[in-house]
Amino acid sequence: MNGQQMKRSEERKAPSGERPTRFCPACYAMNEWHAGACARCGAPLETPRDFDARLVWALGHPDGATAIRAADALAARRTPGAIEPLGRMAARDDDPYRAAAAVRALRAFLPDARAAAHLAEARRHPSVIVRREADAASGARG
Ligand SMILES: [Zn+2]
Repeated sequence: MNGQQMKRSEERKAPSGERPTRFCPACYAMNEWHAGACARCGAPLETPRDFDARLVWALGHPDGATAIRAADALAARRTPGAIEPLGRMAARDDDPYRAAAAVRALRAFLPDARAAAHLAEARRHPSVIVRREADAASGARG
């Protein structure tokens, strides 16, 4: 593995063992569990009930590890509605591990043309970690 790119990836973690909190489904701000609406944006604090919709929602989660688990689960389930959200996650340049996880997940959707388009785009990603995942999709393992 490339040690140079491995420094950053820790993201804010939800405080655990304290009072229960949950993330706003609209803006991902952390709120008191029993709050009815988001303190930051005012959206109702209800996450989607449908499991696939919840996984797609989790792709934007502030906790990178949660987002990566969601991407893996969506890949295993091949949820058709996940391709575009995974494409957006793959294009993010704030956390290469997160983007790489999205690229890895998109590979599970091949030969879907939309997935292929996102993978082609990911081959020009600023992070080598992401580009390497995208290259692996085209058979050029690196
Ligand atoms: Zn909010």
